[in-house]
Amino acid sequence: MTPSPRVLVVEDEQDIAGLIKHTLERSGEMEVEVVGSGDAALKAVTVRTPDVIILDLNLPVLNGLEVCRILRSRAQTARVPILIVTARTGESDRVTGLDIGADDYVTKPFSPRELAARVRAVLRRGRPDESPAKPLVYRGKHILADFDAISVAVDGDPIKLTRREFELLKYLVENKNRVISRDRLLERVWGYERLIETRSVDVHVGRLRGKLGDAGRQIETVVGLGYRFVE
Ligand code: CA
Repeated sequence: MTPSPRVLVVEDEQDIAGLIKHTLERSGEMEVEVVGSGDAALKAVTVRTPDVIILDLNLPVLNGLEVCRILRSRAQTARVPILIVTARTGESDRVTGLDIGADDYVTKPFSPRELAARVRAVLRRGRPDESPAKPLVYRGKHILADFDAISVAVDGDPIKLTRREFELLKYLVENKNRVISRDRLLERVWGYERLIETRSVDVHVGRLRGKLGDAGRQIETVVGLGYRFVE
């Protein structure tokens, strides 16, 4: 049995948040977490990646569009479906929301049943666990890597990487905060057919770190296990 989809509701108005939670949990098929600000949402997703995010646009401090943009720029949430909830009837907000990566939207006041139907629809289109996020752009604190354009910059300065170093960085970033063994790196970055020593991985990681400068510290050596790209 697959676990219930987890829904993160980002809504500062408690009664509306409560209504959404009640509606989605009533059927017993979803597990809902509510946060009241964009800031709290960005923290919550790092603890547990939800299967879908319901995001109110009108939030204090960090507005929903900004939250949406940040979620889309992070590898962990780049592919998580986002459903925008807006009280604004202006078409431009909806268009902007969809432009920056929201999957769908509902306008307040909405019917709870309609909202539930929309959530089920975005969930059907694909759960992140089944198609792991392979974001094309990684934006970290120091590193900006465009894996499509094959370009990497550290603190705004472009750096030159060999193809292998680039592939190594890409694989580590795609699996950030997870320990990756040397064997796995060999298999994924060099390919099965390459009969090279695991020691070569260390040499390449060393060169990659050097080129990344201070940001190279984000690639940690985990003694006896391998490497981990930390954020
Ligand atoms: Ca609101």
